[in-house]
Amino acid sequence: MSADGRVALVGAGPGDPELLTLKAVRTLREADVVLHDDLVAPAILALLRPETRRIAVGKRGGCHSTPQAFIEQLMVREARAGNTVVRLKGGDPFVFGRGGEEAAALEAAGIVVEVVAGITSGLAAPAAIGIPVTHRALAHGVALVTGHSADDGGTETNWQALVDSRLTLVIYMGLATAEVTRASLLAAGMDRAMPVAVIANATRADQTSVVATLDSFVQVADAARIRSPAIIVVGKAVGLASRVALDDFACSAR
Ligand code: SAH
Repeated sequence: MSADGRVALVGAGPGDPELLTLKAVRTLREADVVLHDDLVAPAILALLRPETRRIAVGKRGGCHSTPQAFIEQLMVREARAGNTVVRLKGGDPFVFGRGGEEAAALEAAGIVVEVVAGITSGLAAPAAIGIPVTHRALAHGVALVTGHSADDGGTETNWQALVDSRLTLVIYMGLATAEVTRASLLAAGMDRAMPVAVIANATRADQTSVVATLDSFVQVADAARIRSPAIIVVGKAVGLASRVALDDFACSAR
């Protein structure tokens, strides 16, 4: 028997603590040490036992960051010291969360890894303003993509294929490159009048959103001072967003 601890990669959900899974809460309560992202809400960290050590390993786009290799080494070290380690990530650990890389690094080091799925922001954000990402009449599926090509590993997103697919497009990390994405979607033949929603801080007290069109959403989001973290949703089903958001066509804060 090894005296090694274990690591759980845990999804913290989009922000509202009530959207944590029961398993996430149990795992958090068992943790000796928690390595968490900037995006994890204070109300969620408040669920930890007082003696649990908390290590912030933020890497918000543009700001100072903790190198990935360092985070992985830290988890290995803590687990080898016999600790129960939780790597707490916003949303789901395996959706744009580098969870796959971390799981591989831990497994290579012989550490037992458990993954606790979370509600990803790309599904919670549209739901929060009444957008069904699939709909029998309007969208036969949904694609989760990143607007941040640097995180793509150099692979260009094939916007043409996405437009042709007619899936609802859910774009993570897309605010900074929204104008480029808009141009790519137009160039691929998407209708200028296609509904587009931008939802920031989804499920948190400071949630804001706008519903506009492909033509106008960059300007509308800018005018409403929508800031990251935000999800962009593109597709016919966006037209079903709640009336509150549609009526003022600009900004709905809750
Ligand atoms: N693993 C996370 C995504 C991490 S990438 C998940 O499954 O949700 C970071 C991006 O997630 C942000 O740039 C933003 O696009 C999105 N995001 C995370 N939390 C969000 C929230 N509460 N509201 C809107 N977007 C959010």
